Amino acid sequence: MTVAAHARNLEQTSMAPSIHYQVALPNPSSHLFEVTLELLNQTSAILDLKLPVWTPGSYLVREYSKQLQMFRAEEAQGQSLPWCKVSKNHWQIDSGEVTQFKVCYQVFAHELTVRTNHLDSTHGFFNPGAVLMYIPGFEEIETTLTVAPPDGWAVTTALPPVEGQSNTFRADTFDTLVDSPVEIGTHSLYDFDVLGKPHQWVIWGKGNFEIERIIADTQKIVEVEAKIFGGLPYEHYFFLLHLSAGGYGGLEHKFCTSLLFPRFNFRTTENYNKFMCLVAHEFFHLWNVKRIRPKALETFDYDQENYTDCLWFCEGVTSFYDLAIPMRAGIYDAKNYLKLISDSITRLQSIPGRRVQSLSESSFDTWIKLYRPDANSKNAQVSYYLKGELVALLLDLLIRRESGNMRSQDQVMQEMWQQFGKSETGYTHAQLKSVFESVAGVDLTDFWQNYIEGTVELPYDEFLNPFGFYLKVETTDEAPPFLGVELNPVTGAAIVKTVIVDSPAHHAGITPDDQILAIDGFRVRASQLNDRLLNYQPDEQIQVTVFHDEELRTYTVTLAKPVPTAYSVQPLDNPTPEQIQLGERWLGVNPKTLGL
Ligand SMILES: [Zn+2]
Repeated sequence: MTVAAHARNLEQTSMAPSIHYQVALPNPSSHLFEVTLELLNQTSAILDLKLPVWTPGSYLVREYSKQLQMFRAEEAQGQSLPWCKVSKNHWQIDSGEVTQFKVCYQVFAHELTVRTNHLDSTHGFFNPGAVLMYIPGFEEIETTLTVAPPDGWAVTTALPPVEGQSNTFRADTFDTLVDSPVEIGTHSLYDFDVLGKPHQWVIWGKGNFEIERIIADTQKIVEVEAKIFGGLPYEHYFFLLHLSAGGYGGLEHKFCTSLLFPRFNFRTTENYNKFMCLVAHEFFHLWNVKRIRPKALETFDYDQENYTDCLWFCEGVTSFYDLAIPMRAGIYDAKNYLKLISDSITRLQSIPGRRVQSLSESSFDTWIKLYRPDANSKNAQVSYYLKGELVALLLDLLIRRESGNMRSQDQVMQEMWQQFGKSETGYTHAQLKSVFESVAGVDLTDFWQNYIEGTVELPYDEFLNPFGFYLKVETTDEAPPFLGVELNPVTGAAIVKTVIVDSPAHHAGITPDDQILAIDGFRVRASQLNDRLLNYQPDEQIQVTVFHDEELRTYTVTLAKPVPTAYSVQPLDNPTPEQIQLGERWLGVNPKTLGL
């Protein structure tokens, strides 16, 4: 039965409006999806259609409609209907007395990321929010989606199939549709069960992975996360993996996740662990942010930015867990876990923006800042992923300390799940704080003001010491005196990408986009800069020659002391029995046996 015939059948049984989408890909090499939207039993004389400007989980207005072309509208007999554009993503049809019509358009799909669309001769992938229009007022009605693939290509999506109709799926709301990416092609499917429920790895592209190992480790991750939340809130789930030359990313959904990973990054332990952290991260999101949502994301507005100051909880806490869960699952040990935390601390402490932007501000302004880095980002911004992960660590340690390790961040997640996640009721920042306080058993007003709403430096030792650890600050002998520039890694030439605020380069007047040519009259290339600086001492003056917008300039720069190159979480030399006991309960092993 065709979609239209199915629709007419429905029409006979019900006069309620109904929407049917079809996505065809008659010529994959053209990168064009051919989209048809049929609307039946509508009674408006003027009808609005909109394409989302963003998709949940990726907080940037991506202007999906820039890829839309060849829009047309017609009534059932094929007569064109008049239409106009009202705004960048808003079409209006003069439907008059017509109750049944369809619109057709093409969407160009040549961007392989987890939040965009990709179509070529090897496969098709689309995020419905980036392809399918919605009709304001009709977001809550059930829709069907038919995908028309070339011969031999299969369709995989989390949407339930409509029985008896090939490649046709049902979505109870537009939100469900948006949350269900579609993979079309000859991808590999690998089935496995966890806790009696069916799961799948769905993989497009070749790579040096071992599927048995991935499945075994995924099963452990799913089990550990299910234990935190007390079960799995779905009947089936799949992990969609796109393997490519160098892309990296993940996007969470309620019943699946899309992952993008470099195809040859499965061999080394470090890269493999990074992959499993990504798996743990996106899977954790099926609770945290897909079901446990901030108030501002309770109902999605696809037309504009959805502002919330809670993304540090959605993403930072999830990042905290993406490091902890592989350890709990036995994929890596506590020593490696502490190393990953140390690496995160090293990254955060190298970002001057941590003193400028708070976690709340970083969350709220993600729409204009985090996804749009520029020359000043490092000086003025902090990632709510990175700082959020470390603040979550401190909160975890605080709760453990206050409760004698009887409680942890896990109880916060359980409480958030019970209070907000199960019913998908949005939470406010105040409600979030009070859940943390109820689990910790202490007032967290100061903590919030300092580390979440403020920019006070994170006091790592205060939280690590009770567990028998401290933060070691290291500066290697090979660290050159501090100049304070970061170079653009792409160009090969020594083009300044960022000038660190308050650095010698900043005080001397060097600016982003300057091309460094020479130090003290001798040419220096990008790859030689650090090595050349090793010839000098802190407080020594050097002459730095640059092209500044094609003009040759020489600056006098007074070098400073080397900055710390690494921070590492280390066990205290002489911990008390209490510290050892707390540390052991935190990490699951005696800190003395870590070999740090
Ligand atoms: Zn995330």
